[in-house]
Amino acid sequence: MLRYDLHSHSTQSDGLLSPAALVRRAAERGVDVLALTDHDEVGGLAEAGAAAREVGIRLVNGAELSVSWRDVTLHVLGYRIDPACPELLEGLASIREGRTARARRIGDSLATAGIPDAFEGALKFVTSESLVSRTHFARFLVEAGHVRDIKEVFHRYLVRGKPGHVEHQWATLQQAIDWIQVAGGQAVIAHPGRYKVTPSAMRELLAEFRDRGGDGIEVLSSSHTGEQSAEFTRHARVFGLLASSGSDYHGPGESWVDLGDMPPPAGVDPVWKDW
Ligand code: AMP
Ligand code: MN
Ligand code: MN
Ligand code: MN
Repeated sequence: MLRYDLHSHSTQSDGLLSPAALVRRAAERGVDVLALTDHDEVGGLAEAGAAAREVGIRLVNGAELSVSWRDVTLHVLGYRIDPACPELLEGLASIREGRTARARRIGDSLATAGIPDAFEGALKFVTSESLVSRTHFARFLVEAGHVRDIKEVFHRYLVRGKPGHVEHQWATLQQAIDWIQVAGGQAVIAHPGRYKVTPSAMRELLAEFRDRGGDGIEVLSSSHTGEQSAEFTRHARVFGLLASSGSDYHGPGESWVDLGDMPPPAGVDPVWKDW
């Protein structure tokens, strides 16, 4: 049986390893099929693809799109996308466009809470032009000694109700699905267990996603408890969605689940059924 890891990040977004280094690590860890899914960005796929050919593993061309649905931010994974598709590239550029202005507002919010120069601090951790994310602020906040580790950052800062949180409008759910599918790919809701919505809103989301043409949900994720994995596996079956699995690896020392360490979905069709 092949080992799949369909969620990972490189320096093209907020990961710590270059695309080639990420692929080599995946190969060393026994991954047969790796998806590189940088946030709102496909710029690392060529390098990752070349490295995958060298080490003899399969690379899935992917991306993780930021979406605003009602009042929550969602992430939608695209798998097997054509990275040269103009509609997709334009869509991703439009999502990325607001990031720098948003980051300035995050910096202003942190300054109000007594943490100056966070925008400049976060920029020092940025590794890809025009892609500044909360992860880069998190690294700055750890380095500056405001919190112990990245995990703690997302309890005390950068989340709703806490310093450094700002509202932001990302793509719509339909746009994300359309851009992914126009590029020949499959659209999959990432780590659904992370979204702070009621159980009934979650069912509405899954029904709406499926009705808008969405293909699957990530049932196994480093963001999920065992209970959540079981719950979303049931949801996948009930809503007729395919199931995915991924570590959401961001780099050594920052991810508690390493590349290749999430098991495959069980009792439900995997997203790679027809690959
Ligand atoms: P952004 O797209 O700028 O909102 O940044 C989102 C990124 O922050 C995610 O992709 C994760 O890498 C990171 N992040 C968000 N929440 C958490 C969390 N609870 N623990 C660790 N990292 C998180
Ligand atoms: Mn990330
Ligand atoms: Mn995500
Ligand atoms: Mn991710």
